[in-house]
Amino acid sequence: MSQRPLRIAEVADPQVTPGHFLLRVRACGVCRTDLHIVEGELPPQQPSMIPGHQIVGEVIAGGRPLPQRTRQGWGTQEILEGARVGVSWLGGTDATCPYCRRGEENLCDVPTFTGYSVPGGYAEFALARADFVYPLPVALDDLHAAPLLCAGIIGFRSLRVAGVQPGERVGLFGFGASAHLAIAVLRAWKCEVYVSTRGESHRKLAASLGATWVGTEVEKPPVQLDRAVTFAPSGDVVVAALSSLRKGGVVAINAIHLDRIPQFDYDRLLWGERQMRSVANMTRADARDFLALAAEIGLKPKVTVFPLDQANKALLAVKNDAVDGAAVIVP
Ligand SMILES: [Zn+2]
Ligand SMILES: [Zn+2]
Repeated sequence: MSQRPLRIAEVADPQVTPGHFLLRVRACGVCRTDLHIVEGELPPQQPSMIPGHQIVGEVIAGGRPLPQRTRQGWGTQEILEGARVGVSWLGGTDATCPYCRRGEENLCDVPTFTGYSVPGGYAEFALARADFVYPLPVALDDLHAAPLLCAGIIGFRSLRVAGVQPGERVGLFGFGASAHLAIAVLRAWKCEVYVSTRGESHRKLAASLGATWVGTEVEKPPVQLDRAVTFAPSGDVVVAALSSLRKGGVVAINAIHLDRIPQFDYDRLLWGERQMRSVANMTRADARDFLALAAEIGLKPKVTVFPLDQANKALLAVKNDAVDGAAVIVP
């Protein structure tokens, strides 16, 4: 980031194309993936890119509302000009590859990713595929809705991938934007939550949000965990999580990029049908289920706001774990 900062540029307003909505951006959450894109850990897909994939926008043009159908039969969703919608990381799929046909659109062979393969929301305007936007509950204002759109949805998917059952003991390793939303879901499911994280203020936040136990990144939860989710881009953290699991437990890795996985002792750490799983992207069903749950439990992220011209400062703050909760950019 410090070597490859973003710069402000005047670009032509996007022109609305069939099947898309033109949005006026009202807020855009900052995700660690934005940092991996800007710093080049994810290979560039375009010569230059506008990052940002947690967009709250107002539909200002978009022609006809499109029917929105999935295998679950969601039926028709009418979104009219003036509506407030959310856009997430999964900006589109081909609907025809073997994964899409299996209902696993998060694994699509030809995906579109917002703010990576197409321009994102660190901007005044953005274009979004009409069948990949989510109407936002009125209870959620712009600033508090934005971090739900990736940090929230993918945190929720991580809990699904880890197979969390109500009442279980769940470890969260790292306590950034995604974890601070996942803990609210876990508390709603009556789970005991064990949080290992660096940073005194992150530990305080975890305790205030109802963690049963909170420790530093080198401390081990005092009990064996049924499930764990790791959030840091660090393989050491994955191994620490693995070493805290009971037999049959699962670690879900919520990171699009890891530095490496260090060598570890199979006999002690993975034997016993423990599992390590990655969490890749999200489906529209994850988004809808999570946003409905968020509205139901009154989920309200802790946010720090940055104006658009301070996007670099926001990214640096996320990189340095200097934000409690989520960073949100406002144009
Ligand atoms: Zn596909
Ligand atoms: Zn993200």
